[in-house]
Parts: sequence; C-alpha cells; structure tokens
Amino acid sequence: MSTRSVFTFGDWTLQPDMEPDAEPVTYAMQCAVCEESSEPGEDVGEAQGWTFRHAGRNPSHHTYRETIVRPWRAWMARPSGA
Ligand SMILES: [Zn+2]
Repeated sequence: MSTRSVFTFGDWTLQPDMEPDAEPVTYAMQCAVCEESSEPGEDVGEAQGWTFRHAGRNPSHHTYRETIVRPWRAWMARPSGA
C-alpha cells in the first residue's frame, strides 16, 4: 500500500510507516448513539471488548464507529529536475 505523486517540487512517495520507531497504530470504538468512546489502544480486541461492555450496559445502543490512527511517512524520492 503506497502511493506516488509528482509535484513541481519533486517526486514524493507516501507509505504507512512500518519503521521500528513509528508511532503505533491505535484503535478505538465510539458509540454512534451516545458518542461515548473507548480509550485508543494498540489492541483491536480491547476496543471490541469495550463495545460489548457498552452494549451490555446500554442494550439500545447498536451502532458504533471504529477510529483507526495509522502513522504514515512521506519522502521525496527524487527532486524535480534530477
Ligand atoms: Zn452508547
């Protein structure tokens, strides 16, 4: 999964950051009924567990939103004119 774009100032590549020092991918779930949400965490199972606990406490809350934060990095592969 990567994408390239050529601009007047150079040739850029954009890709999900998989480097060891990259920020972690985090997952959170938000209830679409009451807007309450879980804490963002690196374990998607934890976010899904929050959803089950929330639905258990609020049996009429059936719709949720997943928020994924994914780090990306962009770099110039080739300056323009090179
Ligand atoms: Zn709710």
